[in-house]
Amino acid sequence: MRLRVWGCGLVWLAAALPVTAQQPAPEIESIRQQDLRADLFYLAGDGFRGRLTNTPENLLAAEFIRARFERLGLEPAGPGGSYFQPYTLMIATLGAENRLVASTGDGVERRATVGIDVYPHRFSATGRTGGAVVFAGFGITEPRLGYDDYRGEQIKGNVVLVLDHEPGERDPDSPFDGVVTAQASSPLEKALAAQARGAAGILFVTDVHNHPGPANFGEAARNYWPAEAPRVERYTLGSLAERVRIPAAQISATLADALVRGTGRTLAELSRAAESPRGMVPVPVPGVQVELTTTVHQQVIPDRNVVARVVGADPRLKDDWVIVSAHFDHDGASGEQVYNGADDDGSGTVGLLEIAEDLRPRPRTGATAPPVGALRRVELRGARPARGVGVCRTTAVPAGPDRRRPQHGHDRSQRRGAGRRRRPIPGPGGSDGGVQ
Ligand SMILES: [Zn+2]
Repeated sequence: MRLRVWGCGLVWLAAALPVTAQQPAPEIESIRQQDLRADLFYLAGDGFRGRLTNTPENLLAAEFIRARFERLGLEPAGPGGSYFQPYTLMIATLGAENRLVASTGDGVERRATVGIDVYPHRFSATGRTGGAVVFAGFGITEPRLGYDDYRGEQIKGNVVLVLDHEPGERDPDSPFDGVVTAQASSPLEKALAAQARGAAGILFVTDVHNHPGPANFGEAARNYWPAEAPRVERYTLGSLAERVRIPAAQISATLADALVRGTGRTLAELSRAAESPRGMVPVPVPGVQVELTTTVHQQVIPDRNVVARVVGADPRLKDDWVIVSAHFDHDGASGEQVYNGADDDGSGTVGLLEIAEDLRPRPRTGATAPPVGALRRVELRGARPARGVGVCRTTAVPAGPDRRRPQHGHDRSQRRGAGRRRRPIPGPGGSDGGVQ
């Protein structure tokens, strides 16, 4: 089995271990309060200045974890025999030229203003595009669920208009990960799905049937593109963002309502119609042409995970993996004020180091020595999505045909309300998840 893991400031330990499910976990003497305390006071101390991503202190934290893995004799799990697994993040600033011009069937030309009726997404390509408009429900393609919002309709060369979020958004039994946002529902995945179908561009609008009432689009736009660069950047995973080659923008419900008028249905009616078990057949909007111009300056930030592995002794269980992970970045510092991040996620990181100490390969003799990996259960307490502080993402992908999707993730870009939508810890067999 090959594992691919990427995240932001993520430290992880993968172990293929015999797990004795029937017996209680023996006391693990190596996990001691004073060890946890010493490591935590060091890592969350002012010296690390909040371990913000893309700072020297964050690199130092990674170095500390690497050194500990090495001292414990763990096997490096990164490429080229390294404990570091490189990956990239992307941050973006709004460029000067962003606009949308729509000509509706009645000969009226409507110019949408940035911040009032339209704003580009951070992952949007920079460019100018145009075409007829096609409403494509939630804009989700998820073959695993037999779900496709592009069924039976050619959208090549058109600008697709899609809804935010997913069908069954508040239904705990929704196949789209219950009440947790599924990977396929992230705007970035939707843009890639539209791009794969040949769309010229993609416009997003609120799923108004799930979020009725007056919306403050201007405030949403100001939050998305704050006037001053935020101290803690909003990151998008670089490897995903770099694949987007079409302009992508959010538009107000007011503008969307005007655009879809030619279908004879309101946005609210189309939005409701998108709630379907298999996806919807896209609805072309007669007589409407849009021209979309986007300018987004993107900057790629290299980052790295710290990864190690312990291989178990039991040949039958060699291919079963337990992944223990935590993110080690936090919110940095502002002048004298250090955001230490002892709980988020210093505690998870030092807890992981103590677990690593117990699992480390070493000769074990005598009847009282616990077997390697006598853990009964591992919980990903380290990667806490509440408040969305810190970015991390874990993907376990077997190399074989049973290609699983990401198992866990959270991202600053989804910080609003993220704590209410928490994915349960997946059981054996894997699960789904992800992040924009
Ligand atoms: Zn929604």
